[in-house]
Amino acid sequence: MSAPRQLAVIGGGPAGLMAAEVLVAGGVQVDLFDAMPSVGRKFLLAGKGGLNLTHGEAFELFLTRYGARQAQLAPWLTAFDPAALRQWAGGLGIATFVGSSGRVFPADLKAAPLLRAWLQRLRSAGVRLHQRHRWCGWTEEGALRFAAPTGELTIRPDATLLALGGASWARLGSDGAWRPWLAARGVDVAPLQPSNCGFDVGRTGQASGWSTHLRERFAGAPVKPVALSVETPDGRRFHRQGEFVVTATGIEGSLVYAASALLRDEIAAHGEATLTLDLLPDRSPDWVAAEVARPRGPRSLSTHLKSRLGIDGVKAALLHELLDKEQLHDAVRLAAALKALPLRLVAARPLDEAISTAGGVRFEALDERLMLKALPGVFCAGEMLDWEAPTGGYLLNACFATGRAAGQGMLAWLAAGQH
Ligand SMILES: Cc1cc2nc3c(=O)[nH]c(=O)nc-3n(C[C@H](O)[C@H](O)[C@H](O)COP(=O)(O)OP(=O)(O)OC[C@H]3O[C@@H](n4cnc5c(N)ncnc54)[C@H](O)[C@@H]3O)c2cc1C
Repeated sequence: MSAPRQLAVIGGGPAGLMAAEVLVAGGVQVDLFDAMPSVGRKFLLAGKGGLNLTHGEAFELFLTRYGARQAQLAPWLTAFDPAALRQWAGGLGIATFVGSSGRVFPADLKAAPLLRAWLQRLRSAGVRLHQRHRWCGWTEEGALRFAAPTGELTIRPDATLLALGGASWARLGSDGAWRPWLAARGVDVAPLQPSNCGFDVGRTGQASGWSTHLRERFAGAPVKPVALSVETPDGRRFHRQGEFVVTATGIEGSLVYAASALLRDEIAAHGEATLTLDLLPDRSPDWVAAEVARPRGPRSLSTHLKSRLGIDGVKAALLHELLDKEQLHDAVRLAAALKALPLRLVAARPLDEAISTAGGVRFEALDERLMLKALPGVFCAGEMLDWEAPTGGYLLNACFATGRAAGQGMLAWLAAGQH
């Protein structure tokens, strides 16, 4: 009898754990290594925001959220679509529901019970977890090198899955250190960039940032409802209503994240990007113009804006921050600004602060089983691949789906005896 195949999964996030589940079900010995003292740390952090597992919108629309990588991801997402993901969670005893926005969450909005049940199932199926094992690349002979609590460890599995995540929130484990190791072995890796990130603002005549007044009074304040529009010189457009948050140096939050790929690329190309804010998205320009133009008698502008248009707090502060005195006191220009207030952004916030990472292992470097063409027997999955998507459950769904596909790809590769 031949010894069972031994496979290494490196990275215990959603992608690596899903691959381990597929592999162990395929009858192979799975050793899962993670640099951290416990696995799934970013997944648990996602639980702090309610754990948006996937999205309940029509599947054709769902696929479009993956933008330029839709075609590459479609087969894996079709094989593990939002319905399959919900069924899988149900199998772990975690019921899910579709929120009013279409986003899908566990009934208790928590990640810990799901992760606990999943790890228990993986362990009883035979997956061996090796925590505090940091992968450090390959030896010259091609063995995997780990920094382990007992010192350096090298192993030569029959196949390896890299599911190392992106490079945001490095303190949770994914730090992007793998990039040069793969590049040195001939793997084409697109530069890692922030995705679903905040931005720093730039004010005319100032290096960057808000005034002290706005920062001290309104950092942390949500701006809602508001519509955000971007139009780039090369014809890319974004327009959506929602909400964002003023930060100490700029803006962040779901509406900003949704536009972040476009804004980031625009800043990279031209050094800055300008978006426009509609502070009264539910009101027509004519209504706004008529209300602004009403005689205000002895009342101050602030009182007028508040009583006639419902503009106060952070929205009023933004008007005062971004318009000069002349604009504020010219009814026509003020009305126009309420519907289209320009805001200049000068930098994306650093990658470490981003929700997710764009860039990574290019799909051209992988075959249809997610195996690296330059390194037969080494597969990749999850956020370390070169795709990005907005928040809304799209990130986790694609991590699960690619983890599952890579696990199946490894089994197929072993079965074909190609190693
Ligand atoms: C604040 C926040 C909230 C989020 N909320 C959501 C949400 O609600 N919905 C959603 O869809 N997505 C959300 N995401 C994104 C989602 O969590 C990630 O896309 C997902 O966790 C990526 O899965 P992964 O398995 O590819 O990588 P990760 O989850 O990053 O896991 C990678 C693992 O690899 C390990 N590792 C890395 N390098 C090494 C090494 N050299 N040696 C050994 N181990 C290594 C790490 O320790 C880590 O455990 C959120 C992200 C953040 C930061």
